[in-house]
Amino acid sequence: MYLKKVGPQRAEVLAKECNIRTYGDLLHYYPRKYVDRTKVVKVRELQAEGYVTLVGKIYAVESVTTKRGRGRLTAVFKDSSGTLELNWFRAVNWLKKSLRTNEEVAIFGKVSLFNGHPSMSHPEIDYLEGDQTNRLNIVPSYPSTEKLGRLGLDSRGFRQLTAQLLLEPGFHLQENLPAYLLERYRLMGREAALRQLHYPETFSHLEQARRRLKFEELFFFQLMLAKRRSQRVHANEAPPFPTVGEKFHTFYNDYLPFSLTNAQKRVLKEIRKDMGASQQMNRLVQGDVGSGKTMVAFMSMLIAIDNGYQAALMAPTEILAEQHFRKLSDYAEPLGLTVALLVGGQRKAHRRNVLEKLASGEAHITVGTHALIEDPVVFHKLGMVVVDEQHKFGVKQRARLWQKGRPFPHNLIMTATPIPRTLAMTLYGDVDVSIIDELPPGRKPIKTVWRGESRRLEVWGFIKKELQRGKQAYVVYPLVEESEKLDYLAAVEGKEKLENYFSEYRVGMVHGRMKPEDKEIEMQLFLQNKLNMLVSTTVIEVGVDVPNSTVMVIENAEKFGLSQLHQLRGRVGRNDEQSYCILMSGPKVSNQGKARLQAMVDTNDGFQIADTDLQLRGPGDFLGTRQSGLPEFQLANIAEDQAILQEARKAAFAIFEADPAFEHDEHAMLAQYEQAFSHRYNTLA
Ligand code: ADP
Ligand code: MG
Repeated sequence: MYLKKVGPQRAEVLAKECNIRTYGDLLHYYPRKYVDRTKVVKVRELQAEGYVTLVGKIYAVESVTTKRGRGRLTAVFKDSSGTLELNWFRAVNWLKKSLRTNEEVAIFGKVSLFNGHPSMSHPEIDYLEGDQTNRLNIVPSYPSTEKLGRLGLDSRGFRQLTAQLLLEPGFHLQENLPAYLLERYRLMGREAALRQLHYPETFSHLEQARRRLKFEELFFFQLMLAKRRSQRVHANEAPPFPTVGEKFHTFYNDYLPFSLTNAQKRVLKEIRKDMGASQQMNRLVQGDVGSGKTMVAFMSMLIAIDNGYQAALMAPTEILAEQHFRKLSDYAEPLGLTVALLVGGQRKAHRRNVLEKLASGEAHITVGTHALIEDPVVFHKLGMVVVDEQHKFGVKQRARLWQKGRPFPHNLIMTATPIPRTLAMTLYGDVDVSIIDELPPGRKPIKTVWRGESRRLEVWGFIKKELQRGKQAYVVYPLVEESEKLDYLAAVEGKEKLENYFSEYRVGMVHGRMKPEDKEIEMQLFLQNKLNMLVSTTVIEVGVDVPNSTVMVIENAEKFGLSQLHQLRGRVGRNDEQSYCILMSGPKVSNQGKARLQAMVDTNDGFQIADTDLQLRGPGDFLGTRQSGLPEFQLANIAEDQAILQEARKAAFAIFEADPAFEHDEHAMLAQYEQAFSHRYNTLA
């Protein structure tokens, strides 16, 4: 309110509408776009449709009522070379009052041509007289709202405010990056960057300004991650497991059902090293579908058990928890270890019995769903926890699991939704990342095709051949507008058709509305090859492992997200058989949908899929609300600015390592800004 032209009334609305309370806030209210007046054209030159800027005057404003009774405003725009018709269909009354004629203006908008006559609808108008910002070549355009507009704070109003701050002599802004960084990374100074961002001299200055400000955002974010990482390492003690003992060795030497891939061995070694220390392990294992993460998890658990502790594994769905329970029970049985299962909907007496086993320490390994993090669940001595398919859980849910141990247990989190490396880096600066970048030997790449409805019989004929060979098939139906009921109906209808065509085969079904026991029975039948086909809604999306199945049919595949499609495809190709993924789509597929399906056909590589997904959706959507760890940067875009991100990370981690308390003179300013940034990004738990 102390800025000239603001005052209490505007100040209040600025605070309410755009959170602008200080000069700093105003400077960080960035233009959304820029009007390029470096190229002003003449009316006479308008020969094609497209966006242009013209300079001239407006005359003859007139409101017209169309045949349908709707209001329209027209006016004539005139420069030294000719005239152009202007039209408005919205805000007609307000415009009629506020349009100023016979004054020099710059207009920007899209030219349309009717019979060679140019016209423009809803042009942006800047009056060029009387104000220093109006003669600029590159004009910033600020987002505004109706309320702001009523107080004269439209784009132009904002321009006057920012210009007052930035263009007045005497304005000075403190630098917040050490001089040597500016030099090393050829970054514009902070003050210059903010000036150029609002009032660029040229587009190349603007680019430099944006690069500097993106660097700043990413640098302070990474500084915060570096700090958090060191806090985690120093704050959370965990029980050290120095011995790799009897159970681990017995299993490794006598019971391992296959030899580990080199990637599995390498990751296990990383985990062993972490768990040997008295600091809490916080390790993310990224491995594509079918890369064998479960075995890595199991053998890590044996390390905890060998040192006298319990281990727990949390999975996002009951089907998956039950599958892990069966598998781990098989592995654990010859070692004389007890595995317990805790999921929702278990009978009371049974549940009490399970809880008792966890509390007494009788259960060496506990497998479960979200049920594990409920309050009554108490462990005797929990030394390590594994979270499978971690992207399905929130940060808080994961923490609630490991907080069930004292001292805190070691943490292993696993995901088959590969996050592009740089993104993982940004998100998980405080987590160590291991990558299983190798599939078990003998796997054949899954063949993926995309088919339309017209080829359905051909597809079904193909499936029949696979069933005749004794193989099994999945048919998945999409979620229908988030409604479990419709979802279920689509699958039921699909199943009936399949049963008709595949009458000599047994077709089973799982869906989200089934009781856990029934789901489990159906999955068991499929696993034992007593069902040839399994119709399903997306409940089988993650983790399900039935190696004898070789066909995955996805109905209305265009409705699935890319990572979901890749997850579903990962249900086949789980041994050395040739497997197939058939994407069925309707006739109308959006461009994004086409891009997704084509990406599936083009590659089996989860990392590549993740990259494409990130490109298609942008980082916010890509990570979804669950992953809300990612801050909203004002300028930086993690998908596009990976080079800047890497530089910023390198710089931030190096500084934090060398001078964590910011004691050197040249780092003094970092402390203050780091605070401000952590505050801004405190969503990252
Ligand atoms: P994901 O990483 O997707 O969780 P799983 O752990 O379910 O994969 O493993 C996929 C399949 O590969 C399972 O049937 C598993 O038994 C098998 N498997 C895992 N590791 C190996 C290996 N080193 N050699 C052969 N088969 C393996
Ligand atoms: Mg898995």
